[in-house]
Amino acid sequence: MDINGTLINYYFHCKRQCWLHANRINLENEFELVDIGKAMHEIKFNNKKNSEIKIDNISIDKLTNDYVIEYKKSDADIEAAKWQLLFYLKVLKEKGIDRTGKLIFAEKNKQSKKTIVVKLDKENENELLNIMKNINELIKGDIPEVKLIKGCKKCAFYEYCFL
Ligand code: SF4
Repeated sequence: MDINGTLINYYFHCKRQCWLHANRINLENEFELVDIGKAMHEIKFNNKKNSEIKIDNISIDKLTNDYVIEYKKSDADIEAAKWQLLFYLKVLKEKGIDRTGKLIFAEKNKQSKKTIVVKLDKENENELLNIMKNINELIKGDIPEVKLIKGCKKCAFYEYCFL
């Protein structure tokens, strides 16, 4: 499976979730929270220009002249969201499209700002290459052990892991 934004996000959130998604044990469509997320997305972007653009294996919430914008329901996992967006910036850069990233959170619980600006520089681009290499190794290996983390109860794989 090609690396995509979801895999990058899951890699930071939970290695097992990343493995399960990559190996196509895909329960997300049956999970209510994901459906709500999709519905919110449709309402938010319905009939708006430059919204939900698919390029290769990435799906971008919004592209403007200056920014790639990624909307998240909450700021529960900022690091995962940041690297997912950096990955989008990298894919676009390879196509000659240079942009700055902007993360916009509908709910802010961990921090005071609803928006975070993310820039792709040499340092995080190299780090991203390492992350992609690590993900490729992870998904080819054995399934990681179950490890209870804060987001488990909201995860699409909760029943698979714990019941
Ligand atoms: S339920 Fe928890 S351990 Fe299982 S994949 Fe989801 S986040 Fe990871």
